Amino acid sequence: MGRRVSASHSMDPSTAMTQEKAIIIGAGPAGLTAAYELLMRTGIKPVVIEKSDCMGGISRTVNYKGNRIDIGGHRFFSKSDRVMKWWLQMLPLQASEHGPAAVRYHSMEPENASSASAPDPAVADRLMLLRPRKSRIYYLRRFFDYPISLSKDTLLKLGLWRTLKIGASYMQSALFPLKKEETLEEFFINRFGRELYRTFFKSYTEKVWGVPCNRISAEWGAQRIKGLSVWSTLLHALRKLVKGSGGGIGQKDTQTSLIEEFLYPKFGPGQMWDEAARRIKEMGGEILTGYRVGRILTDGWRVKAVEACEAATGRTEIFAGDYFFSTAPVQELMRSFDVAPPRNVLEVSDGLVYRDFITVGLLVRSLRIHDGTAQGKKLIGDNWIYIQEPDVLLGRLQIFNNWSPFLVADAANVWLGLEYFCNESDEIWNLPDDRVVALASGELSKIGIIDAGEVLDSTVLRMAKTYPAYFGTYHRFAEIRAHVDRYTNLFLIGRNGMHRYNNQDHSMLTAMMAVDLIAEGETDKTGLWEVNTEWDYHEAKRNVR
Ligand SMILES: Cc1cc2nc3c(=O)[nH]c(=O)nc-3n(C[C@H](O)[C@H](O)[C@H](O)COP(=O)(O)OP(=O)(O)OC[C@H]3O[C@@H](n4cnc5c(N)ncnc54)[C@H](O)[C@@H]3O)c2cc1C
Repeated sequence: MGRRVSASHSMDPSTAMTQEKAIIIGAGPAGLTAAYELLMRTGIKPVVIEKSDCMGGISRTVNYKGNRIDIGGHRFFSKSDRVMKWWLQMLPLQASEHGPAAVRYHSMEPENASSASAPDPAVADRLMLLRPRKSRIYYLRRFFDYPISLSKDTLLKLGLWRTLKIGASYMQSALFPLKKEETLEEFFINRFGRELYRTFFKSYTEKVWGVPCNRISAEWGAQRIKGLSVWSTLLHALRKLVKGSGGGIGQKDTQTSLIEEFLYPKFGPGQMWDEAARRIKEMGGEILTGYRVGRILTDGWRVKAVEACEAATGRTEIFAGDYFFSTAPVQELMRSFDVAPPRNVLEVSDGLVYRDFITVGLLVRSLRIHDGTAQGKKLIGDNWIYIQEPDVLLGRLQIFNNWSPFLVADAANVWLGLEYFCNESDEIWNLPDDRVVALASGELSKIGIIDAGEVLDSTVLRMAKTYPAYFGTYHRFAEIRAHVDRYTNLFLIGRNGMHRYNNQDHSMLTAMMAVDLIAEGETDKTGLWEVNTEWDYHEAKRNVR
């Protein structure tokens, strides 16, 4: 039977005594979405327990002396209208955007909003910008389109010999694809040919994951870049030529890597999650920061409470509840149960692998490279650049000015994020900050992007477990799932919460669907695990618009 839907913020004190509670581990996008949805659609009170002191998890914004860092660069784009509408009712789209994409987004805003009353970013803060995407590959000390296009420019830069090899190996793959497509290497070769794979995919992907592509499951490729191929990039280039650019984001059928515009909160992704947290508290939800959940207390196949430790005092506290959501890394969660999971399940969770991440914020006067735009004397127009140069550890470069000019304290400067994919056990993770900065600015100078003498200020951020990997014991993940799904009132949601390479939208959709299940009195959690792989189907099936 379906649950009665009520608005908890208008609840009288006697109801509050009997009100059901949901304990949510983590105030990232998934945890906060679950809390908000519970408040909007059920009578259940959410209590969010967050170990850090900020909102947004990996999607937070870090403010360093007025210069804001977005860890990883978060495009707000989703093929799910449900998510797009959710974002836009939190932060409306900026005014003065009238292209096809803006029209589509204004139409998704709540009924009382109109493009005429849309906020102006020059005077208002609570809004989304509509930003153009530009990202390129830097290789051989030159720029190539991303995703790689087989344009005349690309071929000239690669030279005749490489081009011939790429063409021949692509033809070979097209005519005689590998029969077995189990690894990411095989996935790439079948779509791009061996030579293009070696030139543009191998070194960067191996920088990201720290293992050879032939040890990564093809499932990662299928999930993240399933629509991408030589043909899709050629087709995209052709469409762009015919239709011109603009309105790209309105294309639901466009492969995500090819999207040309995206939404972006004026002050970075953390602004979205601060706003969500503000509304959750306003509606009667609770959010505790500085508390780390360390134990899950059960009663048969139900969770009855969690035990959390307050970092500031070392004091532990028990939080009882009726429903439980976890966005904590699966590996940590499985070691937290009072009744230990079976040995095989622990073997799988202990064997899950994660990749960690360092961002070095560098404030510089200007770049050494320029383009023909108005700001070209100071910087180029890219949001981010994939660094394919094999002689540096640097994986990706963010130019925060181009995500939102409001991320930068002084518009005269260029605010960069240098991204290193690594493991907590790596030397770079454990270097003192000044040595990480020296390494980062030295590398950027070596590949010709800045002069090291131009650096005005710097900061280092380390973020553990940013990437749940699809290797290690991942192929046995079903054993974990079969065990945790037996806890009827426990919902694993989000990115690390499900060990899924989820973007914000899919992390949020898992939270929304978990609340759907509770609201509808459903107990089968299969649909939750299908978000991200089968989500198009689910949106259609549930007719969520
Ligand atoms: C480099 C990079 C680039 C990305 N780019 C994009 C992009 O362009 N667009 C996009 O939409 N998404 C992007 N993402 C993905 C996005 O960051 C994630 O999908 C999203 O943050 C996941 O949300 P979550 O709530 O599941 O988890 P998280 O963001 O990881 O939040 C989990 C929260 O739980 C807390 N927590 C963990 N364990 C405990 C515990 N035991 N007790 C209490 N609290 C706990 C953590 O402190 C954290 O705040 C990117 C990610 C990375 C790493």
